[in-house]
Amino acid sequence: MQDKKKGINLSERLQEIASFVPKGARLLDVGSDHAYLPLYLLENGHIDYAIAGEVAKGPYSSAVENVGQASLSERVDVRLADGLAAFTAADKIDVITICGMGGRLMAEILEAGKAKLSLVKQLILQPNNCEDELRLWLMANGFVITAEKMVTDKQKYYEIIVAEQGQMNLSAADLRFGPFLRQELSAVFKARWQKELSKLEQALVKIPETNEEAQLAVKAKISQIKEVLHESTASY
Ligand code: SAM
Repeated sequence: MQDKKKGINLSERLQEIASFVPKGARLLDVGSDHAYLPLYLLENGHIDYAIAGEVAKGPYSSAVENVGQASLSERVDVRLADGLAAFTAADKIDVITICGMGGRLMAEILEAGKAKLSLVKQLILQPNNCEDELRLWLMANGFVITAEKMVTDKQKYYEIIVAEQGQMNLSAADLRFGPFLRQELSAVFKARWQKELSKLEQALVKIPETNEEAQLAVKAKISQIKEVLHESTASY
């Protein structure tokens, strides 16, 4: 991904995430892997300082190497650390990105480091799954979602969730589909849930009629998606 002449060539997913980072932010990227996101933002003059936090030695070493190759060691601190242990108040971090891992793991990382979250203005999160569990954690811990976007990259769908300190009250549908995403009903959102709907409808016909419990569970999921997509739920 790193080309010495042109700098970092980010995936579409990471570019979309980068577009949410406020100009001039002091960024902590948790689970930074190759440090692509901080390096891209620094190389483009979007931010001046970042910490790339990584818990695993291999990805940590890749990050150290990439930061060194980009001659940005003075402006990116690569730290081998678990979650929010990567920063202290002295770092004056105001934005945290956590991307490309499961929503449950993200909630665990935030929970473990929540005493430090009062220092931070904004969280930019891109869970790969269990988005509802992450939204539930945010709601239960004094965060409000301020923006959301569903994006595609290599035929996969990803949700980006931006949160700040505040209160919100989310319904079950908000938790599963996203309060902004389900209101906006973007073409990408519709395509993602149409795909899920087709999978569930195919699964439903394969469930034996005798297994009423399994049938009802799948029918309930189908109805929930159809309601969000404003499709008729009459047959379910
Ligand atoms: N954030 C990058 C992205 O979105 O492309 C990398 C995603 S990679 C799939 C997930 C990274 O998170 C891995 O490098 C993993 O080692 C790291 N990770 C997982 N749990 C972590 C934790 N508790 N603290 C710091 N890093 C963690």
